[in-house]
Amino acid sequence: MVDPYEALLKKAYEHITEPSGTGERFVIPEVRSYIEGKTTVFENFAEIADTFRREKEHLMKSLVGELGTAGKIDGNRAIFNGKFETSQITNAVRSYFNDYILCSECGRPDTRLVKDDRILVLRCDACGSHRPVRKRKARAEEPAKLFEEGKIVDVHIQSVSKRGDGVAREGKYIIYVPGGKPGQTVKIKVTRISGSIVFTERAL
Ligand SMILES: [Zn+2]
Repeated sequence: MVDPYEALLKKAYEHITEPSGTGERFVIPEVRSYIEGKTTVFENFAEIADTFRREKEHLMKSLVGELGTAGKIDGNRAIFNGKFETSQITNAVRSYFNDYILCSECGRPDTRLVKDDRILVLRCDACGSHRPVRKRKARAEEPAKLFEEGKIVDVHIQSVSKRGDGVAREGKYIIYVPGGKPGQTVKIKVTRISGSIVFTERAL
């Protein structure tokens, strides 16, 4: 016969350990996404933000930065401009997890983001440690330099936009070339960069 006190204690412990998930390996939910026209729909975006216990806007900002595109939150989904494989979104989600969730001391995800004198700090509820959120700009800088404003670059036109501009692609970047025809390689001067969109004029 089970001692009612013991049974009660056991139940109490279950309640303590289960919801916080400490000790359990944290599993990032699998990303579900599909390409729709010229956009990519990240179906379970809100579910993942909830699992991470982070603001949807914060996650979104990081994802568009990682993917080098623009996008918007649409209810529980996120919609990115451009076509992305599920694996690319998964990688962006993992980067977010590593930067903004995972405690580097104890390897647990029970953390909070707190502002400490304007610096974003990741504070761990499990072990009490905290660290500044890592800045990871190294990867984004390389292609950005390729298209600095005023720089003259050769690009290969692949298609034509709705407005009739030639469109070239380099990595994450989409380059619009006025009057460019598909198949041409043209010398352009970068006039403006907006996210991953590069506006140009013909360089003579
Ligand atoms: Zn920790």
